[in-house]
Amino acid sequence: MGSHSRGSLFVVATPIGNLADLSPRAKQVLTDADCIAAEDTRHTGRFLSRSGVRAELISLHEHNEAERIAMLIARLESGADVALVSDAGTPLISDPGYRLLAALREAGIRASPVPGPCAAIAALSVAGLPTDRFAFEGFLPSRRAARRARLEALATDSRTLVCYEAGRRLQGSLEDMAAAFGPARPATVARELTKLHETIYHGVLGELAASAAQDADMQRGELVIVAGGCETGDMPDYAGVTEMLKVLLSELPLAQAVKLATRLTGARRNVVYRAAVELGKWGHS
Ligand code: SAM
Repeated sequence: MGSHSRGSLFVVATPIGNLADLSPRAKQVLTDADCIAAEDTRHTGRFLSRSGVRAELISLHEHNEAERIAMLIARLESGADVALVSDAGTPLISDPGYRLLAALREAGIRASPVPGPCAAIAALSVAGLPTDRFAFEGFLPSRRAARRARLEALATDSRTLVCYEAGRRLQGSLEDMAAAFGPARPATVARELTKLHETIYHGVLGELAASAAQDADMQRGELVIVAGGCETGDMPDYAGVTEMLKVLLSELPLAQAVKLATRLTGARRNVVYRAAVELGKWGHS
């Protein structure tokens, strides 16, 4: 238990685009805090002045997090209340802050959440895909080989997958997901959520990858990809099934290819059938 004279750290979620999403409590906590630790003080300074909040700002980012922790702990120990924000959304969710929170936990200093916007949860809430279980992957590796390896490892996960992506990498990531999970896996790309150009694209991975290749707008701005989980549970290697189907479909009519692939892999017929139809639709070179 900490002494009652110690301050608290408030982890405050801020808008992911629409300033009106700053909650009244978040605004009050930011106003009352003795100082605000922010990922980018210039960005947060602009946001705070637009929101009518004046505060002392302390920069806390990946590269100085270790040094700033001792200073922030000293201020908290002396009774100051500190707020932590990131550039957008919920701090620590693919954003800095973890080391600070781990240090506070170690020091027995109270951390209190002020919940609010988070792009992953916002995207999941409109994707129309199962939400009872989901896996948040943050940013997939930017290098293609590492990304493919990570996706292969996730191919049989039955949970809905949520990941962050930069616009310029959208097409590559969707293609790699289609290769690892099969082109028929349902998915959603949620772009520029809560902003002027908010667009939600629903489809299957093969279709969404093809759309991203043709539609420059789709690759602009901030994006969340939500992909449905593996439906079979008993299908060990979706990529293997897809590869097998490609060979069979080059020699046989669809019905026969599906029959053989189902028998050879033990996967469910309807899943193999859907994958075969999608392969036919989007080409399988
Ligand atoms: N902490 C933030 C949160 O709670 O959502 C995420 C920070 S992470 C550095 C930034 C990524 O979040 C972006 O590359 C994008 O994938 C996603 N993101 C942030 N704002 C978004 C928005 N308005 N629409 C869609 N995705 C967004």
